Amino acid sequence: MIYQDSKTLLEVRGLRATVNGIEILKGIDLTVRSGEVHAIMGTNGSGKSTFAKVLAGHNAYKVTGGSVTFEGNDLFGLEPEERARAGLFLAFQYPIEIPGVANSHFLRLAYNTVQAQRGRDELDPLEFEDFVREKMKLLEMNPDFLDRGVNEGFSGGEKKRNEILQMALLEPRLAILDETDSGLDIDALRIVTNGVNQLANKDNAIILVTHYQRLLNYIEPDYVHVMTAGRIIKTGGKALALDLEARGYDWVGVEQRDAAGA
Ligand code: ADP
Ligand code: MG
Repeated sequence: MIYQDSKTLLEVRGLRATVNGIEILKGIDLTVRSGEVHAIMGTNGSGKSTFAKVLAGHNAYKVTGGSVTFEGNDLFGLEPEERARAGLFLAFQYPIEIPGVANSHFLRLAYNTVQAQRGRDELDPLEFEDFVREKMKLLEMNPDFLDRGVNEGFSGGEKKRNEILQMALLEPRLAILDETDSGLDIDALRIVTNGVNQLANKDNAIILVTHYQRLLNYIEPDYVHVMTAGRIIKTGGKALALDLEARGYDWVGVEQRDAAGA
């Protein structure tokens, strides 16, 4: 939702980034204010995940130009874990498995780290168990997932739910959800998006990265951006996503080969 008294959470100006010496992001501008939901759409290889990972601080990507502020501070002055503590959250397109580390342990560690940063009480394992079980109900997740290794052997949809469970626990100021809808059947999509909608409020913001309009039937965006070849080439409202669905990407000037080989 767009609120009158919103605050700027994220300000991206002319962001450029490379991976293995290849420039993928070629000057991205984006402003996200509190309360807003932004969708970033674009064909495969347009740079959406790269953008998300650069914001989160993935070490494979090198920032070569431009600036990003998060709540007024230089984002690139913060280590990835400091960004997380500051309230930036990325739900990965391909969540990693961490065999041998119990999901409950991992989730509690992440939760307590953010709690400490916010000057709030940390929870011991028993207290956390009660707390996380409540959050899992929101996502209709079986508590058995707490005892398994992080994402270990989880199906695609289960991994996505586990990502949103993290979001529910950490209550980020800015959540970036990268293709959270991919691999979800229609029931799981409803449950996960319902969870996300319950977490959205006037103080936080969400960036949805997706190439399907379908997701936006469940989580209504205030702004839709089209990315191609590492740039945002068009911005509109929800109707833009419907246009893209009906007419494809070509008419907005999407480059066929996109960032790959460009
Ligand atoms: P999207 O999420 O929009 O599908 P990505 O950001 O994943 O696109 O990828 C954008 C481009 O960057 C693609 O051409 C991809 O092959 C390339 N790319 C991403 N990560 C790497 C990497 N680690 N090494 C080489 N190329 C990469
Ligand atoms: Mg991607």
